[in-house]
Amino acid sequence: MFRPLILVILWAVLLPGTSVLGHVVQQGIVGEGTPFATRWYSHDSEVDGPTVLIVGGMHGDEPAGHRAASQIATWSVDRGRIIVVPAANPPALADRTRRIPGLEEDAGDLNRHFPVIDGTVTPTGPAAPSLWSFVVSVEPDVVIDLHEGYGFRAAGSKSVGSSIITHRRADDAAQASMLEAVNTGIEDPERRFVPLRTIVAGSLARGAAVSLDAEGHIFETTTAKQPLSRRCRQHRTMVAARLVALDMIEDASIVNQMVCPDDARPTIAIYDGGGAGGASQGRRFEAQLPGCRVDRIGPADIRAGCLGQFDAVIFPGGSGSGQAKAIQQSGRDSVRSFVKDGGAYIGVCAGAYLALDNYSWSLQLLALDSFDREHWRRGRAMLRIDLTESGHEVFDAGDSTLDISFRQGPLMRSSVELDGREEAEVLAWFRTGVGENGADPQVMVDTPAIVRGRFGSGRVLLFSPHPEKTDGLESWLRSALDWSIEREPVGREIPVASP
Ligand SMILES: [Zn+2]
Repeated sequence: MFRPLILVILWAVLLPGTSVLGHVVQQGIVGEGTPFATRWYSHDSEVDGPTVLIVGGMHGDEPAGHRAASQIATWSVDRGRIIVVPAANPPALADRTRRIPGLEEDAGDLNRHFPVIDGTVTPTGPAAPSLWSFVVSVEPDVVIDLHEGYGFRAAGSKSVGSSIITHRRADDAAQASMLEAVNTGIEDPERRFVPLRTIVAGSLARGAAVSLDAEGHIFETTTAKQPLSRRCRQHRTMVAARLVALDMIEDASIVNQMVCPDDARPTIAIYDGGGAGGASQGRRFEAQLPGCRVDRIGPADIRAGCLGQFDAVIFPGGSGSGQAKAIQQSGRDSVRSFVKDGGAYIGVCAGAYLALDNYSWSLQLLALDSFDREHWRRGRAMLRIDLTESGHEVFDAGDSTLDISFRQGPLMRSSVELDGREEAEVLAWFRTGVGENGADPQVMVDTPAIVRGRFGSGRVLLFSPHPEKTDGLESWLRSALDWSIEREPVGREIPVASP
């Protein structure tokens, strides 16, 4: 079992000066008993220092702020304390809407409901009063609210996307250092984060600045053309930079911590970088993984070694060569190491291509070659498959013969070279084929559709077709993970207390 060892190393490397037992991690509920009841998390170093409050999920259609805050909620600090409210507006997050469902205009915009003028205006609406009371009670020195815009401000968009909005001039230096951190590595000048002044009246960050004399910032990532993993990493990067500057953590490597090591749920990373399909693809996968902690992971995360925090990685549909190119050689090495050390790999269509042997960019996880490669554009169709006995065991299907959505996934056969690997095991065979653009539909008949095998200590399961896009097979992804994740659930109770 690789995981316990990895976790000990993670804590030791990422959290210098702390130990698992030394942490004071607490959580509790804001707005208990209301539709806006939401969890807060706190890590108190028990060493004198600032209180930094991070809020996400104020607008339900800005997923990166919410997700990043959930990741930051797993961080610890060496000085002061960090408090995180990842889901400030649960009904809007559930509906993926900006506003509180059922309320129009500013009446529904939670980030217009906080005190406008020092002490004289109280919070309004159904959710702000309890959240504001909580904010006041923790006496924050810094309040950072994580949001998203739709376009790049630096490219002339009217949106505030890719900016840091800071209220007090006294905090300009803090703003500048966070901008420098997040802009490192953003080569396109039109995508760089820019400084903006004066936070909108009624917002939480402005309320904290004017009423509580706190340093207040709003971070805005950009949804357009950027995967969720990148936007989350940008939020984490900016928060980490502020914590470093406040001397609350030693260095910014904490940006790579995405998952609580004590999370008892299966932890699943869905790749969403270059070569993967769009955001709806990730949402579809996630909807089929109830009970799991699911995060998007991108090339920068993979190259930084973030996979080690997860039980499994899913490489989805899109382009196998595109995915390989995006994660680069070092990312491919990281994926191989992850699986070799016991991590699970699920590949679907493009993600299956990626795991095979005979491309220059192949991960070579299973001893399988892709064949008839020149006709990869063979088309989309519902194809018939037959499950093998092992396939039945994994997927617990009623029938052995069923139809599944195929979208130009790989045709697979045993590799020329096993290189010490055992042969992959077939879980299902194609019984029909499709052939457009000059392809012969017959060549794929009686070839493997779903396979499994081992790479080092890890397990690999590859789907050439798409169970997640096939009505009635929505449970197959979870079944594949149940087979491929070997660890027993771990867990630790986090105490509930007042902040
Ligand atoms: Zn927003």
